[in-house]
Amino acid sequence: MNTELWARFVERLKNQINDRCLAYLENLTCCNMSDTEWNLCLPDRASLNFVESNLYEKLHEVIHDVLEEANLSSDVDVNLSIEGEASFYNNKKTRSLFDPMCITDISTPVVEKAAFRVRPQYDVPSSDVLEAVPFVPDIRLREESCLNERFTFDNFIQGGSNEFAYCLSKAVATNPGTLHNPLFIYGGVGLGKTHLMQAIGNELLEAGNLRVRYMTCEKFTNDYMLACAKKTLEEFREQVRTNCDVLLLDDVQFLSGKSETQKEFFNVFNELLSNNKQVVLTSDRHPHEIAKLEERISSRCLGGVITDMQLPEYETRLSIIRKKSRDEHFYMPEDVAQYIATKVVTNVRELEGCIKRIKACADVRNEHINMALAQKMIEPFYSTKTVMLNADTIIDVVSRYFGISSEELLGKSRAKPYVYPRQIAMYLVRHHTSLSFPEIGRAFKRDHTTVLSADQRITKGLADKQDATLQSDIKRLEDELAK
Ligand code: ADP
Ligand code: MG
Repeated sequence: MNTELWARFVERLKNQINDRCLAYLENLTCCNMSDTEWNLCLPDRASLNFVESNLYEKLHEVIHDVLEEANLSSDVDVNLSIEGEASFYNNKKTRSLFDPMCITDISTPVVEKAAFRVRPQYDVPSSDVLEAVPFVPDIRLREESCLNERFTFDNFIQGGSNEFAYCLSKAVATNPGTLHNPLFIYGGVGLGKTHLMQAIGNELLEAGNLRVRYMTCEKFTNDYMLACAKKTLEEFREQVRTNCDVLLLDDVQFLSGKSETQKEFFNVFNELLSNNKQVVLTSDRHPHEIAKLEERISSRCLGGVITDMQLPEYETRLSIIRKKSRDEHFYMPEDVAQYIATKVVTNVRELEGCIKRIKACADVRNEHINMALAQKMIEPFYSTKTVMLNADTIIDVVSRYFGISSEELLGKSRAKPYVYPRQIAMYLVRHHTSLSFPEIGRAFKRDHTTVLSADQRITKGLADKQDATLQSDIKRLEDELAK
């Protein structure tokens, strides 16, 4: 009876939720069902966050309908948690959503059976085989993929700044070629775009006999030009089109202005997409912002899913420092970790560089990592910038960026060419100096409430991510200020 209930729930869910969202539920498991509650689990925080914010109501509604249809009380609580973390199921192994034997009786705890990952894309003989014998990719496939095994999902730290990109990448690695195709990831340097892209490739390579190919656009361009010169275009096309199931192209901005390569790129792109082959692209900016990129290419990119990556916030930086030192097997005192996370705010690559330098210096001196050593290594590079920033510098940089004078920026005109830069300047002063709202008001010869509302407007604009121009203006100005 209750296996049937579960089956009905799954069936309804499949009918009511689009494939894109259903991918996030692929590993949903039920660890307990009672008259009063259904406890459902997801394998990781990324899918939990997605499901909680996008699908919770739907799950609840479907459970409600299924129970009503079965003449059972539909007044049940639906709880979601991460597998292994929730107290209510205490290490019990769970069952996958799509396992037809998933639920036994509504009043008794579920009979445990290991959950398994469903990978409908590949011909995996059975879930048991998948669990017992991990797939070892053919050496040739690995070599041809040009992937670096170092980049995995496991060693990628999630945080608010990269959560959506992480979720989408995971979904692509689970269901290549069907959802989110192409996937376009953009953001500043050193934020983890290449890492995530290669993590998708590595996971797909481990999962089955897929021909994954990672390439920077620079290599794509060089190989293409060489193939033209040597008249070996067929070979080149075999590599990136015919003999390729998943194409990962890094740094698309490199194609800017290279019109011949763009034509080839467009054809490759088109052929792969029309054959449901997965394409993942990265760039340091939004497709619309890549100068001299053919319109048909950017619109193709926008036809899939696009996500940005932001600078990691303090907590994420701290987690990255802790994880990197753990992975490299050395002890990083907590005060030093916090100090580095406060100082090195630019990007993850620099963060990694700092950790390595501090470690190397400690090794050379035969000392443990300590605060004095960290300060010595970091201060010369990271303190001057923050000390030097003040309202005048920011006003100057913002005015120059928008091609207006500081007087115009500070003037009374309410025309858009002045109001927008003014609000951005107020926002930047607020976030890059320690000045209070009234102090900023004085610097801009305005009331502090004007500063407050400018700050709120820009913060909101950045948070809802609709306005690509605003995102990129802020990013470029922050880069400029960091110089
Ligand atoms: P991008 O391609 O955006 O310029 P990369 O992917 O090359 O950046 O990342 C730079 C370095 O920082 C890499 O060594 C990468 O492993 C590391 N990195 C970036 N983001 C993260 C993260 N969230 N967790 C762990 N390592 C990260
Ligand atoms: Mg990169």
